[in-house]
Amino acid sequence: MAGAHVVVFPCPLQGHVGSMLKLAELLALHHLHVTFINTHSNHNRLTRFGNIQALSASYSTLHFITIADCYREGKHPGSRDATMGDIMLSTTLHAKPLLRNILVSESPAIPKVSCVIQDGIFGSLSNDLASELGIRIPIIHFRTSSACCFWPYFWIPKLFESKELPIRGDGDMDRTISNIPGMENLLRCRDLPSFCRPGAKGNMSIDWVSFQTQQSLAADALILNTFEELDHLVLSQIRLHFPKVYTAGPVHHHLNVRKAETNKGNDSPSFGNSFFETDRSCKAWLDAQPQGSVIYVSFGSSTIVTREELMEFWHGLVNSKKRFLLVMRPDLVVGRENDDQILEKLKEETKERGLILEWTPQEEVLAHKAIGGFLTHSGWNSTLESLVAGVPMICWPYFADQQVNSRFVSEVWKVGLDMKDVCDRDVVEKMVNDLMVHRREEFLKSAQAMAMLAHKSVSPGGSSYSSMEDLIHYIKSASK
Ligand code: UDP
Repeated sequence: MAGAHVVVFPCPLQGHVGSMLKLAELLALHHLHVTFINTHSNHNRLTRFGNIQALSASYSTLHFITIADCYREGKHPGSRDATMGDIMLSTTLHAKPLLRNILVSESPAIPKVSCVIQDGIFGSLSNDLASELGIRIPIIHFRTSSACCFWPYFWIPKLFESKELPIRGDGDMDRTISNIPGMENLLRCRDLPSFCRPGAKGNMSIDWVSFQTQQSLAADALILNTFEELDHLVLSQIRLHFPKVYTAGPVHHHLNVRKAETNKGNDSPSFGNSFFETDRSCKAWLDAQPQGSVIYVSFGSSTIVTREELMEFWHGLVNSKKRFLLVMRPDLVVGRENDDQILEKLKEETKERGLILEWTPQEEVLAHKAIGGFLTHSGWNSTLESLVAGVPMICWPYFADQQVNSRFVSEVWKVGLDMKDVCDRDVVEKMVNDLMVHRREEFLKSAQAMAMLAHKSVSPGGSSYSSMEDLIHYIKSASK
């Protein structure tokens, strides 16, 4: 059977699966056959908490295939039980035989695979398999992290050559990095990807991250979840080394806009790809709050905090006298002893001005008129969702690209404040008040301007809209 058939293969973590599933849906909206590879447990979680069934029913060309699990369900890369290294190693091991099969299989119902879009974090996996099998099809790398972090990842070897790396301990964190083209003197050591730090969280070595990033040079194209207007400086640098870069982001917004134009516009956008049970009770609570009065606090799907850190955040929020909506995932706090007691105590003491939930429909929350700010861990999806909603941010980055994203939020895009490496109730209180009151106009103005640019980029004729068209054309023409 002729036609385009794309395999989409994300790293099995919420932020990666979420954005690559949205990309898969965008491809299916363009009538491409798409096979989405996921682990059993992630697929089960999407079946329980997401909209996999609805997706399968809506798109006859979207297919799901699962592979064995690589780590115990509920364990996150930040925890001691499953490191990023473990996850990468075992996923690669399980995925290889399956990918090999898919690449050679023929069926009367589905066209032969004509393109692979793999998570860039898997390095040369698909390229190696395609060469081993003697298959020449486009292998595209999708980066679920930011472009502004992809570039430092790529430049790491040069930072070692110029002796700007390694970081020499805590006293070295404020040293400015001058040798990243396009980012000269912008990043301090503390703003580099977290894996550059001695004893970094997630147990991934910077050598490994840098090596995997270099492997993207062998890919036929790169997809970055960003838009030209947001990242043009960094994109012009990346394009000097990667001639074919598609910027079809923000993917979640791109998909929402395309779906709104079709009869597929009724699906709820924000919990369609969730690994957790979404609590929608915040909607009624938010409806009852004044416009722009609530600070939304969420640390994504993987960040873990100590009990002391949680208490600093909570006291800071309470002392700020602002209303807040705090997401406390069941596994947010390290060491779960007495968790329920803490939660009940906080809920009780908070109920005047705050709401604490385990997982929210975040895109909808950020779009709600009651939200005036977002205290975030600066995960790339959360950052994009906030930019699209025009909501200013306070950043408390945890790991990976988040250290770079938060620097860009405060110093480049000027849509918020960077609180990295500090967790102190007085600082939380001050930053919440700066964001929501004292500097509100300034941040709101730049956040809303950025939101308009984001929206324009995915509208017909916009940069991301055109990039998506180009990508579809490239995939289709390679399938003839
Ligand atoms: N998210 C959500 N509800 C929550 C918290 C997070 O739907 O209560 C979603 C959020 O919208 C985002 C994803 O989880 O799409 C988190 O991805 P991100 O890249 O920000 O961080 P990660 O989880 O990868 O650290």
